Order: sequence, then C-alpha cells, then structure tokens
Amino acid sequence: MTMKNNLGIYIHIPFCVRKCPYCDFYSCISDSSVKSKYVKSLIEDISSYKDRRLSADSVYFGGGTPTSLTSAQLCGILDAVKESFSLSDDCEITTEANPCTVDFMYLCELRQAGFNRISFGVQSAVDSELVSLGRLHSYEQAENAVLQAQKAGFDNISCDLMIGVLGQTEDTLANSVDKLCSLPITHISAYMLKIEDGTPYDCERIRNSIVTDDTQAEFYLSAVKRLSENGFMQYEISNFCKDGRMSRHNMKYWKLCDYIGFGPSAHSFFEGRRFYNERDINGYISDRSSVFRIEDSSSDAFCEYTMLSLRLSEGISRDRYVSLGGSQKKFDSLSKKLVQEGMAKSNDDRLCLTPKGFLLSNSIILGLL
Ligand code: SF4
Repeated sequence: MTMKNNLGIYIHIPFCVRKCPYCDFYSCISDSSVKSKYVKSLIEDISSYKDRRLSADSVYFGGGTPTSLTSAQLCGILDAVKESFSLSDDCEITTEANPCTVDFMYLCELRQAGFNRISFGVQSAVDSELVSLGRLHSYEQAENAVLQAQKAGFDNISCDLMIGVLGQTEDTLANSVDKLCSLPITHISAYMLKIEDGTPYDCERIRNSIVTDDTQAEFYLSAVKRLSENGFMQYEISNFCKDGRMSRHNMKYWKLCDYIGFGPSAHSFFEGRRFYNERDINGYISDRSSVFRIEDSSSDAFCEYTMLSLRLSEGISRDRYVSLGGSQKKFDSLSKKLVQEGMAKSNDDRLCLTPKGFLLSNSIILGLL
C-alpha cells in the first residue's frame, strides 16, 4: 500500500463570536447545537480517510475561530485526526485562537491533547485600532492570552498583525511591532488591510478613511524593517519568524505540497487535483456528497509555481521555471531589470524579491507568465 508522507491537514471551524467588519472568511455565529452537529459531521468526514493510511506532518485548525468551540470539542476533532491519519512524531499541530476565547485551563487542555502551536489574532497593540477593527479584545487581553499559552507549555506561538488599520500611523504601527516582538512568540503574520467585496468595510465611508496604497506600502516597508531589527526574519510576503520556525502548514501551500482540507470553504491539493468545499455549513452537516466538493482546474503547474514561489523570500528557481515551460529570455531580462531597480536579488539560479519587490509582486508575476 502506498504511504503518502508529509501531508498537511486543514480543519475549518466556521464559527466566530462576532463577525469583524473587514473579514470575508467563511464563518457564522451559531448556537451550541449547530456546533455539536458540525463537530459530529467533521469527525465523520475525517474518519472516512481512515482506511487510506495516509501520513501527515502538519495539522492546522483555522477559521473562523476554532477556539469558539469547547476544548473538549477541539480535542475530540484532533483525536479523530490521530485515529485516521498517521501523524509524524514532530507533527506541527496548530490552532488559531481569538485572545478573548481562551483561558489558562483551556490552553492546558489543548496542549495536553497534542496541540503544540497556537496563532493568536492580535492585529494591533493599540486599543482604539482594535475597536475600529471591531475586535472583541483589548491589547492587554491579547498579551495575557499569549503569556497564558506560554505558561500552558506552548513554545511556538504566532500573532497576527494588521497593517493599514483605520487610525494607524507609522508610530503606532512601530509601537505594535515592538510590543508583539517583546512577547514570548516565534512567528508574526503581518497582513495589509484589504477591503473585501461584500463586507461591511466595503463602503465609501471606510474607503475614504483608510490610508492610501502608497502610505500602506510605506507602512509595510517600515514594519518589515522593524520586525527584522527585532529578530523576526521575513520568509514570505506577510510572514516572519525567529529561529527558523516558519509555519509548516502555510509552507505546504507555497511549496505546492499536498494538503487536505475539511469543512466548508476548505481547499485541498491532493493527488494532483485541486478542489474545495462549498461555503455552506448546512450542506456540510446534512449531505456531504460529491456535489459538495468542487473541482478547481483553473490553474496549472507553471502558473502555480511562478505565483507561489515568488511569495517566498527564497524566491523562484530559474531552472524549474524553464523546465515547467517558462521562457529563459523573459526570466533573464526581467531579473536584470528587477535587480537594477532594487526589487529583487539574484543568486545562482534563484531570483528573490526584496520587500520593495513584494509590494509589486502581482505585476512581477504577470511579467513572468
Ligand atoms: S474573528 Fe477572525 S475569522 Fe472571525 S470574523 Fe474576525 S477576523 Fe474573521
């Protein structure tokens, strides 16, 4: 029997305590009976893989807010994963968490069940910015959640930071970066605020109030510099880590490794196929037939490799680009131009974007396709 190694497993928990106005992730506010039914369906779905004897080295609970479930529910889902997949000894098991949904006992229970990485949606260290984002927690609560997680035995902790928040200045951003970096954490994801279609933020009032793209770009460059000064090295457009502790799960996406996603809106890349589940929790609970799973054939290996590898600081390999059908002439002439403009660095066969280049990555990618 074939044993497939190094699979990533993603589990989507589509519940939040309250919807943040900028967010378009698939989640809803549900009562405990819907949550119980969902957990049951999820466990059935995960268990359907039992006979395939697949092995994995990363499990990631994302959302939504996974910690809006009880610790017993989260640990029960993880138990189903352990029973259905062979997890490597060093398997990275992460859950995302909202700082206001955890306490010390909760975190201890997760740690005891095998979770060894936790990612907090902190977003800012300035309370007025947290209010403008519609977050339910203060910075003090977020800081306390991180310290409690450390006390509970988590030594691999990540925090999210938002760039371009309403009311943010370069100084308040620097303050947020410094405060996060002083916490016992190993990883920071720093995302630029984007107005997503159909969210409450998608309106004139907000569009007219947020910083311009140029200012956001300046904020991004100053955040990257400050993170580096604080010992957090950039390894992807929006991700920074200490001691080489990159997110193993996210690296699966960017390195075109296999992963299987469970739950509504979850994406999978498995056995050469891409597919995703509909954003429909009721459908997931009532009928997980094949109709629920949608094949995604919109991309090919060349486009995917070019797009994803340029997100990483380690960059794109010229040999691989050419072997997948890319034009060597196009690659060489664009590389030369980007290096001259300070947008990229080139070494041996790799072309790596600088932070300035990351800001223009979409047009650079188009230039290579
Ligand atoms: S808590 Fe996270 S997933 Fe939930 S609405 Fe806010 S940003 Fe979105």
